Amino acid sequence: LVDAIATQVGVALIQAEAYANLEDLNEQLEALDRTRSNLVAITGHELRTPLSTIQICLESLATEPDMSAELRQVMLNTALGDAERMRNLVQDFLTLSRLESGRVEWNLEPLSIAECIDLALSNVRARISGEKIPEIQNFVTPESPLVRADGEWLVEVLAKLLDNACKFTGTEGQITIIVKTNDSNNLEVTVADTGKGIEPNRLETVFDRFYQEEGALRRSAGGTGLGLAICRQIVTGWGGTIWAESAGKDQGSEFHFTIPVFEVPPAISKKSNSPN
Ligand code: ADP
Repeated sequence: LVDAIATQVGVALIQAEAYANLEDLNEQLEALDRTRSNLVAITGHELRTPLSTIQICLESLATEPDMSAELRQVMLNTALGDAERMRNLVQDFLTLSRLESGRVEWNLEPLSIAECIDLALSNVRARISGEKIPEIQNFVTPESPLVRADGEWLVEVLAKLLDNACKFTGTEGQITIIVKTNDSNNLEVTVADTGKGIEPNRLETVFDRFYQEEGALRRSAGGTGLGLAICRQIVTGWGGTIWAESAGKDQGSEFHFTIPVFEVPPAISKKSNSPN
């Protein structure tokens, strides 16, 4: 009898645990659904705004034949600017969705962080060529330890942080890039600027999707508001962390992220140490 009761109690406990897990799962699914609906709503809004501007510009161009050449040019430039913004938004949105769905295959390999920074710097310079940019001081030398990462995504993170640093720092300001060995397994990369800074209560929020300090309607700096969300997905993808520091408005900002140092496999290190 005792055995039978024990078995029944065991079964009841397993059932209770299964129900609890099911409830957990339900809650998680509901949260996921809420996130997806929010995302669709926000993305719809973000796309509709530039689309409306394009429509207004094209309608004016089509219906007002006597429009001055100057105004015509303004309309065309506005429509082109917003079309570009929509293209970037769709591109960033697809990148973020790919990263969030876990469909990215990481091609992790030993990389020189100095080379990746050089590549990111030339990408940024090519993208904003013609405009004046702040002075950039790069203190990273080829002697820095090798890291273990996917080169394409690492350059993407660096380029996005550098792009932001340029965007939010006046041309008289300065950008600094440094790396330091955080602990034996990680390298910490820092992109610091002397620009407009971030309020302390926004240091976390800046990594949220579509967060922009100026709000959707007053984006003087352009951008999609997805850059830092993408950076966070990439960095956490290789097991690192990313965070922002700033003493506040107009006090400059620092963006830091960690990246695993490439460890030479023991067999290779033994071989290279051997006298033969
Ligand atoms: P985007 O740059 O396209 O607006 P991000 O996700 O890259 O989107 O950045 C989100 C927001 O975080 C920016 O709009 C800005 O308000 C703030 N931010 C990002 N980088 C910096 C920086 N270096 N200095 C000050 N604010 C920044």
